[in-house]
Amino acid sequence: MKQRCDNPSTNGYENYGGRGITYCKRWESFENFLDDMGERPKGKTLDRIDVNDNYEPDNCRWATAKEQAANVREPRVRKPRPNASARGYDSAWEKVRAAFLAEHCNCAFCAAEGRKTPAKIAHHIWSVRDFPGRRLDPTNLMPMCQSHHSSLKHGNVG
Ligand SMILES: [Zn+2]
Ligand SMILES: [Zn+2]
Repeated sequence: MKQRCDNPSTNGYENYGGRGITYCKRWESFENFLDDMGERPKGKTLDRIDVNDNYEPDNCRWATAKEQAANVREPRVRKPRPNASARGYDSAWEKVRAAFLAEHCNCAFCAAEGRKTPAKIAHHIWSVRDFPGRRLDPTNLMPMCQSHHSSLKHGNVG
C-alpha cells in the first residue's frame, strides 16, 4: 500500500501517488494501520471508499475485487479536501481517540444487534466540519467497527 504512493516506478503509480493521493501519517506505522483496519480478510484487499481520496482510516475498507470494480472513479475533478491534520486528526485527537476506544471497546451498532465486535473507529456524532468545537469532546464520540462506520456514508467526518 505504501509502495503504491511513494515510489514513482511502482506499477500504476499515476493512479495513486501520481494523482496526489497519499496515505495518512498515522499509517506510516504498520501497527497503527493494523489497529485501524484489522487483519486483511481472506479474498479482500484494501480499497478506498472515495477513490479520489487518500488512504486513511475514514476512507478505507477491505473489499473484494467485485466490490472494488463497482466503486469506479468519478471522471469529474473534485475540490481537494484539506489534509488530515487540518481536518482535526492531530496528536490531541489521537489521545482522545485512544482513551475513548480503551473505554468503549465494542462497536455500539453491533452491540445494538446483540453482537460484540471490537470498535476500531471513534466516530464523531456531530461532524468535525460542522461542529469543530466538539472535535475532542468524548460525549460526541461513538465506538464503531469499520464496516458499520463505512455503512454510514457520511464521507468526510471522523
Ligand atoms: Zn459494528
Ligand atoms: Zn465517522
